[in-house]
Amino acid sequence: MPPAPTADALLCSSLIAGDWLPAAGDCASTNPAHPGEEVGRFDAASEAEVDRAIDAANEALADWRRRGALERGAIVRRAAELLAARAEPTARLLTREEGKTLPEARAEIVRTVETLHFHAAQAWVPVGETFASPDPNEQIQTVRAPVGPVAVITPWNFPVLIPAWKIAPALVWGCTVVWKPASHTAVIASEFARLLVDAGVPAGVLNLVLGPGRVGAQLVESPGIRAVTFTGSESVGRGIARVGAERGVRVQLELGGHNAAIVFPDADLGVAARAIVSGAMLSAGQKCTATRRVIALAEIREPLIERLSAEIRALRVGDGLVDGVDVSPLISADAAGEVEREIQQARADGAEVLAGGDVLDGPSWNGGHFVAPTLLAVSDPAIRICREEVFGPVCAMLAVGDDDEAFRLANATRFGLSAAVFTTSARRARRALDQLDAGLLHVNRATTGSELHAPFGGVKASSGQSPREQGQTARDFFTETKTAYVVAVS
Ligand code: NDP
Repeated sequence: MPPAPTADALLCSSLIAGDWLPAAGDCASTNPAHPGEEVGRFDAASEAEVDRAIDAANEALADWRRRGALERGAIVRRAAELLAARAEPTARLLTREEGKTLPEARAEIVRTVETLHFHAAQAWVPVGETFASPDPNEQIQTVRAPVGPVAVITPWNFPVLIPAWKIAPALVWGCTVVWKPASHTAVIASEFARLLVDAGVPAGVLNLVLGPGRVGAQLVESPGIRAVTFTGSESVGRGIARVGAERGVRVQLELGGHNAAIVFPDADLGVAARAIVSGAMLSAGQKCTATRRVIALAEIREPLIERLSAEIRALRVGDGLVDGVDVSPLISADAAGEVEREIQQARADGAEVLAGGDVLDGPSWNGGHFVAPTLLAVSDPAIRICREEVFGPVCAMLAVGDDDEAFRLANATRFGLSAAVFTTSARRARRALDQLDAGLLHVNRATTGSELHAPFGGVKASSGQSPREQGQTARDFFTETKTAYVVAVS
């Protein structure tokens, strides 16, 4: 049973063809640090309402694509300005609903503002190429056309930034959008949709459909949707890829990772320990790029454990709104329970707990979904914790005999999103770039973090085969290339 509505809970609803649906508030969104506190209430869109949203996106397409990229970019730029002006209340709402610490929420808002500015500015970048023709009266050139109405399906862990890095390029390149956000963060999603409307996104160009997974599934299966961009779990992503392949529509996937950090004996161990702990534990480890495994050469295992343990002991777990807290709660009781089961399974599989290992559920934790930052020493790399993604502040440490074994173990997962190596050797860094199966490689940096103007995505099961997100490559997913042969006849 959700808690009873509280007086200051926000009431949210879906946005279809420029109208906010009347809200009864059947579903509750709660604060992960204080689950008794409601952040807001919302209703799930019905099947008919989702169909109306798809129809609205189709009807709005012709006018939106006619407006031109510069006009569309100006609207996205206005959204960036509005978000910058509303940054602090938006960050506080983000912390209350998702749980991340306030500094992390503020950083997400700043990055979202920059992301909106970046994609708005892409409208000024030249597009298309011209080609020589055998006919002097003919010009051959390529132009970019919007792929059509797109479904944007997003997770709760970056509930403003991830939607922004999908929706902004979609809009600038002339697509209309039906956005299905994660239910855990429906309130902040509604606020962001409201901001885009306030910035001037016309009716029908952005539609928001709230509700459970079936809402996303309906979008993916609809003939009115021409492309789907999704970030979330591997299982849902694979299902979307199957339907997309049958329907012949584009699918862009960002799924999980089992990201390794390799520490070589020549590394600066202080740098390595700080980066590993921040990569594994901040945002409560709820990042697809979080460090899940540490692979250390045997001769530095003990000093590295000492440093990692000291860094972990210094972390403060708590409510993200409290000053000085480093590690926030997990998104839900189910998520915390799942992480606890995975830690227990790892122990049963022979892992030794070096730090943490517990769900923090005593009276002082107010029922919040807290898990202690956990470091496990593992001797058998085949056990489950080294293969399956555990979406929490949990990291497994393995020792290896030489560089070859380190690279082999780092690649011994079906995922391939991010990896880090810690070394002062240029030769080892170059080898890592050659040998590691990862879409993102960090040298002497955490596995987490990326820049908005550089391509983002993984290899193997971490991503689909579509163009990378972020940076200029974002355009490739949302547009189709047309080649025009134009002969002047007068
Ligand atoms: P999901 O994949 O279930 O959710 C992601 C989005 O997809 C949400 O909007 C969700 O809606 C929606 N969705 C759920 N089912 C379907 C469906 N059948 N068709 C279309 N859309 C659907 O992830 P969870 O939020 O449940 O998290 C589970 C796990 O996923 C995590 O433990 C983690 O391992 C991974 N994950 C990975 C992320 C990443 O950044 N790559 C981010 C978040 C999670 P709703 O919220 O309403 O269920």
